[in-house]
Amino acid sequence: MNTDKFSGKKFKIRDFRFYVQTAFVLLCVWIGIEFYFFIKFLDSGGIGNPVSRPPGVDGFLPISSFMSFYLFLLTGEVSLIHPAGFFIFTAIVIVSLVFGKSFCSWFCPVGFISELLGDLGEKIFRRKLKLPKFLDYPLRSLKYLLLAFFVYSIIFLMTDMAVKAFLEGPYNVMADVKMYYFFADITRFSIIVLSILFVLSIIIRGFWCRYLCPYGAFLGLTSLISPNKIKRNNDTCINCEMCTKVCPSFIDVHKINTVISDECTSCLSCVDVCPVKDTLELQNVIVKKTINKKYVAFGVVLIFIIITGFGMVTGYWQNKVTNEEYMFYHQSIEELGHPTDTKGIEKMNEDVKRK
Ligand code: SF4
Ligand code: SF4
Repeated sequence: MNTDKFSGKKFKIRDFRFYVQTAFVLLCVWIGIEFYFFIKFLDSGGIGNPVSRPPGVDGFLPISSFMSFYLFLLTGEVSLIHPAGFFIFTAIVIVSLVFGKSFCSWFCPVGFISELLGDLGEKIFRRKLKLPKFLDYPLRSLKYLLLAFFVYSIIFLMTDMAVKAFLEGPYNVMADVKMYYFFADITRFSIIVLSILFVLSIIIRGFWCRYLCPYGAFLGLTSLISPNKIKRNNDTCINCEMCTKVCPSFIDVHKINTVISDECTSCLSCVDVCPVKDTLELQNVIVKKTINKKYVAFGVVLIFIIITGFGMVTGYWQNKVTNEEYMFYHQSIEELGHPTDTKGIEKMNEDVKRK
């Protein structure tokens, strides 16, 4: 049986992933509770003890974080609005470059919920249901269309000055607060859409991630240039197909020698389950060295901690928006719609300053 010894027990990466995913969800819940009290402070008009905003909430603003990342690549400047989002996004990109699309299977709370719903679906239907290829392929392209729309709107339609103006403008400053109100006052239509996604995720494992998530599409493309890939040894493989059966991304692992797929989330479930020693492994394809799966477990966590920790110790982690500024923008939050072009960004910034 292809297992490692870890602390005297069989080391299953699935167990370790579950602990990391659970810890990350709990961290998100904690951030959510802190953010709730911050919103209540704003709603009260700033009465009582000042409540500070948790910086981790920036991680829930992927477009703002992507724009900060892009601005950094263009100018070397870290935006001081939602800077934690920049470090979280950078950590996710680097983890993907090193270990593939591992953010999806190790940290993402939506990925975790999706995985649990997929497990539930497999229990209900007693097998992994899959859409036929004629539906699967076009649907998988949807997330790339969404990604293309965001990339085109930011990289091709905005100058670095426009990106900076957007990031520092009132809409982006209040984006997290607006997101809170969206979920707090959720419309019937949004509930119906979320319910449909919930049910579809039970029927088809990873429905949201596989077909609709533009973040996953971006990381899938990034992961293609990762030098670390799942490799199968054709000489020792006994063709039991256990790797394919367990793969949440519907990859025919038993038929290929190297997994090069934008859908592979580096969950290592296939490596976990392979019954033949040294047959299915994560390998660095440049130096042709096997990477022990326990190093992957520590590696993804360590990269994340180092990069976000760097943001904290260098003083960039905290948002540089004061509570007074939040209170000021909060008064006109209803009027802060998403600006659609550079002129719109400039006009909104000027309108709010004039008030
Ligand atoms: S190929 Fe292996 S590592 Fe990739 S998603 Fe499938 S089971 Fe996970
Ligand atoms: S689980 Fe291992 S032995 Fe079985 S088909 Fe996959 S690679 Fe081959």
